Amino acid sequence: MRRPTPPGSEGSNGKWMYSAPWQSWLWFLIMAYEVTATRRRPKTFEELAGQEFVTATLSKSLASGQIAHAYLFSGPRGCGKTSTARILARGLNCEHGPTATPCGVCPACLEGAKGSSLDIIEIDGASNTSVNDVRQIKEEVLFPPNSSRFKVYIIDEVHMLSGGAFNALLKTIEEPPPYIVFIFATTELHKVPATIKSRCQHFAFRLIPLETISKILRDTCNELGIQAEDEALFWIARESTGSLRDAYTLFDQVLSFSDANIRSELIREKLGLVGLENLNTLAQFCTKNDVQNALLHVDSIIGSGVALEQCIIDLAGYYRSLLLLKTGITREALLGYPLERFSTEVLQALDPVRIEHALDLLLAVYRDIRYSVSPRFEFETVMVKLCGLSTWVSPEELRSAIADARNLLQNAPRPVSAPGASVSPQPSSGPSPFMSDFHRALAARREADAQSKSVHTDEETVERITQVFPGTIIK
Ligand SMILES: [Zn+2]
Repeated sequence: MRRPTPPGSEGSNGKWMYSAPWQSWLWFLIMAYEVTATRRRPKTFEELAGQEFVTATLSKSLASGQIAHAYLFSGPRGCGKTSTARILARGLNCEHGPTATPCGVCPACLEGAKGSSLDIIEIDGASNTSVNDVRQIKEEVLFPPNSSRFKVYIIDEVHMLSGGAFNALLKTIEEPPPYIVFIFATTELHKVPATIKSRCQHFAFRLIPLETISKILRDTCNELGIQAEDEALFWIARESTGSLRDAYTLFDQVLSFSDANIRSELIREKLGLVGLENLNTLAQFCTKNDVQNALLHVDSIIGSGVALEQCIIDLAGYYRSLLLLKTGITREALLGYPLERFSTEVLQALDPVRIEHALDLLLAVYRDIRYSVSPRFEFETVMVKLCGLSTWVSPEELRSAIADARNLLQNAPRPVSAPGASVSPQPSSGPSPFMSDFHRALAARREADAQSKSVHTDEETVERITQVFPGTIIK
């Protein structure tokens, strides 16, 4: 294991700690701090979160002694591939094994846990990419393990190996000495050649569900004796998008400024987020067609230090949640917040078609602001459009309105031309008030046409054409 380089100026011998005792204490304190992701790295299959299929299969094969020559772990970052590889290696080498539950106290387990085992070799594929690196492995595998049952090679980011290196590895993976086990981990499975894949037992790791991450963060808080709001932990879990390592890193960051009390308000302040209250207010102004207040509220949000991009992302997320709610989805993990915290006023005022349009506008403006002279103007224009959302008509609604109008003109009986006779408007077939307005206007127009002289005689028509196009001779 690499020891930390002692601090000191370039070329110093690192004997600084004897010069001032307080410095050594400081160094001890720095070293005592361990990031949460490292401290809570799972040591057993039970502790591994969200990968039930992988752990169940590996546990069974360990228990039955059916050990493959090579394993390939693929999946997104921070979801437990390297941890699983280490647990598997320890399970293989435990004195009471091979077992799915390494004892944790035998010399092999202790060395494995410390990372000092000579028989568990971790190689970073990203920095050992050449044929020569693989050649070295090929020579090493000829020697049996030092003190354990198996010699385990864990190669991380294996997709970074060069084509030549992969080819050099092929024969070794196919028929290695019986004491060798390869475990490859990759975040980019498509870059691993098919020839390698076909020689490995492949396990696909999944993103860890939001609820699971949330629960793990709660356990971490309890362990550290930290107060934390559910919403704040939920936000961290959501931001980590299924990666537990990302969640721990963000958790550490939030903890560093939270003073043992993690609150969502503080996170919003420090990390420049909009927050649901602001989003609700903004959307309420939009549904009321209150352009002035909507723009002023945008100004106050941006003035409080929220980046424009973040503002757009959060507002788009808000309208996405509304759309999900309209389709009947109430799962908090998908909505981002509990259902009851969304403004009922906004929910009642908007229908799915208009929410979809709002989302389209926001996603488009997010793409456009990169090339814009003034991103803020672009966003404000969108806010004005969002204020007019209730009167916006989709192309589909327009098409169906025109079709209805055509039917009305072709099939409906001519209105009675007696004065005072009214034509009842057609009922609206869509959610938009546009349709009923349209039909009402159409009917009124036809009534007016019927009362006035709407058909010209031939003479009148010729007269009008010659007026418009003087010199035209119509025969
Ligand atoms: Zn053991």
